[in-house]
Amino acid sequence: MPVSDPPPGIFARLGVPTIINASGPATRLGGGRADPEVAAAVAEAMGDCVAIDTLQERASEIIAEHTGAEAGLVTSGAAAALLLGAAACLTGLDPDRMGRLPHVAGRNRILIPRSHRNLYDHAIRTAGADLVEVGIADRFAGAGVRDTEGWELGAAIDERTAAIAYVAQPYSQPPLEQVIAEAHGRGVPVIVDAAGRLPPQANLRAFVAAGADLVCFSGGKAIGGPQGTGILCGRRRLVGAAALQLFDQDVLPELWRPPAWIAGEPPIAGAPHHGIGRPCKVGKEQIAGLLVALQRFAAIPDDERITGWRRIAERLAELLSGAPCEVRVNDGRDGVPTVEVRPERRSALEVIAALQRGDPAIYVNAGGVREGALRFNPTCLSDPEAAVIADRLRALL
Ligand SMILES: *Cc1c(COP(=O)(O)O)cnc(C)c1O
Repeated sequence: MPVSDPPPGIFARLGVPTIINASGPATRLGGGRADPEVAAAVAEAMGDCVAIDTLQERASEIIAEHTGAEAGLVTSGAAAALLLGAAACLTGLDPDRMGRLPHVAGRNRILIPRSHRNLYDHAIRTAGADLVEVGIADRFAGAGVRDTEGWELGAAIDERTAAIAYVAQPYSQPPLEQVIAEAHGRGVPVIVDAAGRLPPQANLRAFVAAGADLVCFSGGKAIGGPQGTGILCGRRRLVGAAALQLFDQDVLPELWRPPAWIAGEPPIAGAPHHGIGRPCKVGKEQIAGLLVALQRFAAIPDDERITGWRRIAERLAELLSGAPCEVRVNDGRDGVPTVEVRPERRSALEVIAALQRGDPAIYVNAGGVREGALRFNPTCLSDPEAAVIADRLRALL
């Protein structure tokens, strides 16, 4: 063995093969690849003890600085942020309502445009909210041109409405501004799921600036934080209500004081019990890693990130030239380039399955399979991995 061979990594030592992730930072594929600076922060944080509420208070300041929100909380993912955000809207800072979740009377409904329903909204229902769909999106049935409209959400708000949930995609309807206007006109907060909407970096601020009361981001996607992290940011009292339902509340009531950044008028009646968010625990190492990653993400301009991804995408396309397939580099959503490959002699599904069965397993985005396309996302790829993918594809095609 040449002297320069690196020692086997942690996954090799555990006997678990690593994969080539050409699908993007999906949870089931281990998220993204963290920068060494983030990994070092995680390792360093594990060596000391710290009061978690003090650490989250500092996290709130740092998140506020980068998002323009009043406050922020590090969560165990965007789905956890949805759960905690929904809980906050159901309870406010009332410890009695917090203790009753997931069963709470009165304001316990969260409205959602019907076309925004998705399998992550289980997190909202887990908090105890009755999710109420509004409108009909006949544009997706090929039977019309319409989607839910802002006024329909406004008309659906009543005394049982705790919030409106909104999934922010480039094609989402109705426009967020309309939804916020209808909600705020009736004193109802809006929760925005923006889990994967970074880059562009400007989106750190865009939804907050539009008036969203709570915004959820994934920490393990483009931010590059530890895989099990996310961000909930927005209005101070709502983020505070989320924090109190996440924190460990095994405290002597006589010693408990509401954290200064959450306290205010009216005062909180007493020490809340362990809340519905307690199973969404976030460790000190996750908080430290996410904060370092967020600061890095905010310091590196989008162009720099995207240029690196585009170079890998174009390299992969170039290595496939002459192979029996159609290859195209697309600009992709939010500026993330993707390589689309359409095999000429085999079905896309066959090729995707064969890549996954190989050694190392190569995971591709299968979203284009019905149109006969494999989609390669470069955000988790290295140059040598692009070469391995090209070799395997050439052999398979
Ligand atoms: C990825 C994603 C989530 C879940 O994010 P986690 O950080 O994995 O919890 C929720 N909603 C949308 C739209 C997503 O893309």
